[in-house]
Amino acid sequence: MDLNYSAEDLAFRDQVRSYLEANLPSDLQHKVLNHKRMSKEDYVRWHKILAKQGWVGTGWPPQYGGTGWTPAQRHIFEEECARIGTPAILPFGVNMVAPVIMAFGNQAQKDYYLPRILNCDDWWCQGYSEPGSGSDLASLKTRAERDGDHYIVNGQKTWTTLAQHADMIFCLVRTDPNARKQEGISFLLIDMKTPGITVRPIIMLDEDHEVNEVFFDNVKVPVQNLIGEENKGWTYAKYLLGHERTNIAAVGRAKRELQFLKRVAANHQKNGQPLIHDPIYASKVATLEIEIMALEITVLRVISQDSGRPGPEASLLKIKGTEIQQRLTELMVEAVGPYAQPFDPAFLEGETEHSIMSDDDAAALASYYFNFRKTSIYGGSNEIQKNIITQMILGL
Ligand SMILES: Cc1cc2nc3c(=O)[nH]c(=O)nc-3n(C[C@H](O)[C@H](O)[C@H](O)COP(=O)(O)OP(=O)(O)OC[C@H]3O[C@@H](n4cnc5c(N)ncnc54)[C@H](O)[C@@H]3O)c2cc1C
Repeated sequence: MDLNYSAEDLAFRDQVRSYLEANLPSDLQHKVLNHKRMSKEDYVRWHKILAKQGWVGTGWPPQYGGTGWTPAQRHIFEEECARIGTPAILPFGVNMVAPVIMAFGNQAQKDYYLPRILNCDDWWCQGYSEPGSGSDLASLKTRAERDGDHYIVNGQKTWTTLAQHADMIFCLVRTDPNARKQEGISFLLIDMKTPGITVRPIIMLDEDHEVNEVFFDNVKVPVQNLIGEENKGWTYAKYLLGHERTNIAAVGRAKRELQFLKRVAANHQKNGQPLIHDPIYASKVATLEIEIMALEITVLRVISQDSGRPGPEASLLKIKGTEIQQRLTELMVEAVGPYAQPFDPAFLEGETEHSIMSDDDAAALASYYFNFRKTSIYGGSNEIQKNIITQMILGL
């Protein structure tokens, strides 16, 4: 197995790198590199810049406006974006609902939604989880009853990321309450402006408004917003989850954050010398660096094996990737100690350039640490990923 990049891959990397250097707005880069919060406008601005270049649909086939890149090229692109510090392209439209529309939607749905997703004309959110139906998603209760040309939707979704900005939500709804639980589910696209939808914020540990509850009270949804066949939604939902797991390891970002960690540890003192020279702290950083290198090799092995869309190995990448992300935030907070404590929302929101404390590197770290507790829960909790590994890889 050759894990080295080919000459063409290296040329592609240079092309991506020079494009990003020339086109990434410095204010967006500053926010990303300093762990500040991104606004809706920030995400949309970067999405539209990339859309102009034709580089949004990196996993899409060219017939729908995708790049048609190889798995290695996609990996290189993601690495370069992480290295320089671009905002994320949010996955809900491009990587989640779009592949489902391509695979199971009708022509009218493809023609209408796919170009709008590429250009970020609609902000999408994901309506899967419900209170009591997270890991056990197939137990979901939100009801959709057919009434002529419409479905009438009643129920509640929860943990809906950034639904406060959303124009559209893709939802799993129960259309047949009498069928076996996986068999009575359908996949609906719902306009968030429809009367009867209420979005309520859930404020996170770091006081950020990132997730929501979404309530449906007799919401009328046209039947043409059904994807594929009624009661076949579970098949489409599982197909989508396979796409959700691309780039789940986020190795590129881990490598960038490791450099940040080393810088912070070099700038903070312990016993009169830079913390990074303290043998105990240095060994923790070294252990983490080795973990990151091992994860990178694993990602490259997965990419070199097939289409780049990992099967059950995705669970392994998710667990290791999120453990590393959380460990990075732990070591950052450990490095700056009490300097992480002040809560400075104006700085986090990018309203002030400098923190009320003198140390800008430290000012966002407590928020970053708290926020990243989420990574071992969302996208299928790490315990559920371990179940998948025991069943699908170890065959237990
Ligand atoms: C920040 C954030 C953003 C999110 N965004 C979205 C979104 O946009 N859209 C959306 O639909 N959902 C979203 N989610 C929901 C997410 O998918 C669920 O939180 C996740 O699937 C876990 O479900 P749960 O919260 O109901 O926990 P539960 O399923 O109740 O699990 C509770 C605990 O029990 C463990 N557990 C459960 N079952 C098993 C088992 N069989 N074996 C071993 N351990 C088990 C879990 O690992 C967990 O530790 C988000 C969650 C978070 C935290």
